[in-house]
Amino acid sequence: MGAASATPDALVRATAADLAGRLAAGEVSSEDVVRAHLDRIAAVDGAPGDGEGLAAFLHVSGEQALASARAVDARRAAGEPLHALAGVPVAVKDVVVTRGTPTTAGSRILQGWVPPYDATLVERLHAAGMPVLGKTNMDEFAMGSSTEHSAYGPTRNPWDTTRTPGGSGGGSAAAVAAFEAPLAVGTDTGGSIRQPAAVTGSVGVKPTYGGVSRYGLVAMASSLDQAGPCARTVLDAALLHEVMGGHDPRDATSLPDPVGALADAARTRDVRGMRVGVVRELTGEGFSAGVSASFRAALDLLADAGAEVVEVSCPTFAHALDAYYLIMPSEASSNLARFDGMRFGLRVEPAEGPVTAERVMAATRGAGFGPEVKRRIILGTYALSAGYYDAYYGSAQKVRTLVQRDFAAAFEQADVLVSPTAPTTAFPLGSKLDDPLAMYAGDIATIPANLAGVPGMSLPSGLAEDGLPVGFQVLAPARADERLYRLGGALEALLDEQRGGALLDALPELPALATADRSEAVTA
Ligand code: GLN
Repeated sequence: MGAASATPDALVRATAADLAGRLAAGEVSSEDVVRAHLDRIAAVDGAPGDGEGLAAFLHVSGEQALASARAVDARRAAGEPLHALAGVPVAVKDVVVTRGTPTTAGSRILQGWVPPYDATLVERLHAAGMPVLGKTNMDEFAMGSSTEHSAYGPTRNPWDTTRTPGGSGGGSAAAVAAFEAPLAVGTDTGGSIRQPAAVTGSVGVKPTYGGVSRYGLVAMASSLDQAGPCARTVLDAALLHEVMGGHDPRDATSLPDPVGALADAARTRDVRGMRVGVVRELTGEGFSAGVSASFRAALDLLADAGAEVVEVSCPTFAHALDAYYLIMPSEASSNLARFDGMRFGLRVEPAEGPVTAERVMAATRGAGFGPEVKRRIILGTYALSAGYYDAYYGSAQKVRTLVQRDFAAAFEQADVLVSPTAPTTAFPLGSKLDDPLAMYAGDIATIPANLAGVPGMSLPSGLAEDGLPVGFQVLAPARADERLYRLGGALEALLDEQRGGALLDALPELPALATADRSEAVTA
């Protein structure tokens, strides 16, 4: 080593594609790469709830990550054929189960639970030889848009540590944006990969529903949940998506399709003739001036590069938010019934009186769930109850069908649809905590894709006048995920050329922390 290009700082700032190239060429070892990231985590992450640091991680798996890095280095030294990403580390959202590593989904009710198996996508990371750095912070059970509903304390936005990194996957997005991990896994039920990507200046993709196995995700709303990649570049997201995706017989909703040639699509960098549909209902009113200006400037770049920019209308998107906030709590209220104080994690016995199963369940759930989770269980249970089912859940399912029809019609006029990802840039910590409806309203642009099962990407279009990143959303028809990468890769290249470098090059220095030992599990 010793070469300037392999300093720890250069290693954490390198893209996954760059690291893969340097590892393959023998210029650097996976152990060095992992160590550089663990040092970066120690320097900037702090511990959740201590009020210092980003708190992107709930659990850092330093020893395991180093052991798997050394194993990959040994296999490489022995001349074994390796996956292109072998040795490149990755962080995993804490809603994904990891054998032998605590998994809490950001909840007290799962504190101390160590899963006996790996999610399919985690098996695939291991099969590719990717060391897992740890588990990232999130809103409890992925319910939220700010990561403030984590039972362990909020994640901070690396662009401005008084602001949220979005949610629910704020930990994965912040880890990637702050150079703590080159890649991370997220999940997106209503925007939890794309919205955090938008407000942290990173790239996030929700694949087509069924494109990445849900086996081993702690289920929130099963008909909407989808895991996907978080990265700093469109190509890196494609590379991770290719590792995670593809058919899995253990997920009944898994598509039979092989994962597409996503990295090739990201490298195409040609949008000539591509029909780009601007969704009228997801622009203008409700979107801040800074967000709208950045979005329009990106559209101009695409048009100059030969894309055909058209306007499309999806009138029922106006009701998508309402439908989502009935369907999602309904499914979640059922999925969360399994947390009963008997099978996983926390068990609380009633303070007095008889210890019956029902009373243990009530005491455990009362103590173990936070207020947002309780709110949604109550909402969902109400929406599904006899006498209200048709009016609430039934109507929401009808809206869901109409949203799908709007997409089908729009995709006759355009190859991809675009909008800003979120109505505003990152908002201050605490600013929406007392107003759940204001928090929900921020999901307006991301939710339609989940209701229809279509894939979506957020990539940064630049900084707004407040100096904070803006996300540009691309949506494609189901099973056409490669179109996201084709448009996203091209737009990213145009923007990088215009500004003379990657957006995250402008990330402000983060304050170094006094205490930095994160080798212990904080949620174990
Ligand atoms: N913000 C949305 C919600 O709170 C989306 C969450 C998610 O995608 N997991 O439901």
